[in-house]
Amino acid sequence: MANQPSQNGKNKQENQRVLLEVNNLVKHFPVRSGLLQRVSAWVKAVDDVSFHIYEGETLGLVGESGCGKTTVGRTILRLLPATSGSVAFDGKNIFDLNAAELKKLRRDMQIIFQDPYSSLDPRMPVGESISEGLRIHTDKTAQERYDVVVEMLARVGLRADHARRYPHEFSGGQRQRIGIARALSLRPKFIVCDEPVSALDVSIQAQVLNILRDLQKDFGLTYLFIAHNLSVVEHFSDRVGVMYLGKMVEMSSRDDLYRDPLHPYTQALMSAIPVPDPTLKRQRVILEGDVPSPLNPPSGCRFHTRCPLAFDKCAQEEPPFKDYGKEHYAACWLLEKGEIGASKL
Ligand code: SF4
Repeated sequence: MANQPSQNGKNKQENQRVLLEVNNLVKHFPVRSGLLQRVSAWVKAVDDVSFHIYEGETLGLVGESGCGKTTVGRTILRLLPATSGSVAFDGKNIFDLNAAELKKLRRDMQIIFQDPYSSLDPRMPVGESISEGLRIHTDKTAQERYDVVVEMLARVGLRADHARRYPHEFSGGQRQRIGIARALSLRPKFIVCDEPVSALDVSIQAQVLNILRDLQKDFGLTYLFIAHNLSVVEHFSDRVGVMYLGKMVEMSSRDDLYRDPLHPYTQALMSAIPVPDPTLKRQRVILEGDVPSPLNPPSGCRFHTRCPLAFDKCAQEEPPFKDYGKEHYAACWLLEKGEIGASKL
């Protein structure tokens, strides 16, 4: 896709190519009830989300549990059908592809799950799990598939003889390495990493993140990195998007977001990150109340029921998601009014 300027400031980084472009993505889940299982309500998991990912970068996606970040990851891979919107990968709208075209695209777009144990067949040796995609998507011989499995196992720090073992014979960290090897076997361009280290011990997390980073460098991979741990996202991402109740509320380069968060919600999340220097004190912003239900999200700005800075307009109108300079996007009426800015929060 050529680098064209667009309404939300895409492609300003001249030398970077957009690999994935998400426009106005909506995913609502029906709630069925009664004897006839009629649709009685809709869970608005993702509501009009737009963003893009440059080739070779890592875009982190953060937010509290239930904010819609995992649904975004699965919908852009077409593991879940979208309600509306579009996702262009390498310039092609993947929602328009037929089954054969989608099968071809599956080689380029893969996912690493939070819990690799549940995504690995317990009755299948891990070598077979890793080579399954090769069997479906390529015409490689059994020997060629085995060679790829051995290479991928080595890439993630495992041995060739591990291919014959079963998932229960591995630790959580090793299973996640197997999940990475499996995602990588088809040499994809893009991987959704869905909370890939959340279930692992802290000491193992760093090892797995280092493997992901090395593979990105060696294979030119592009990542959508979904996590709720802000420190992990800071460590791993080039740019970061923050979601709240199905909406993107802020997105910018990692450094700008962590140094100068613009949105009150991001500010509150940042204030909860522990500071390594005990002499430094960060003012903690405590958010009142629970996250509202996505079945019936608040009107206007969805954050207004918990925002310490909310005023009348916030409950009535939704603030625009706008670029406030250097591709730093946010959605807040106070930014529109110029009453808050990076240095004033
Ligand atoms: Fe808070 Fe209003 Fe800004 Fe929403 S628009 S974040 S409620 S000040």
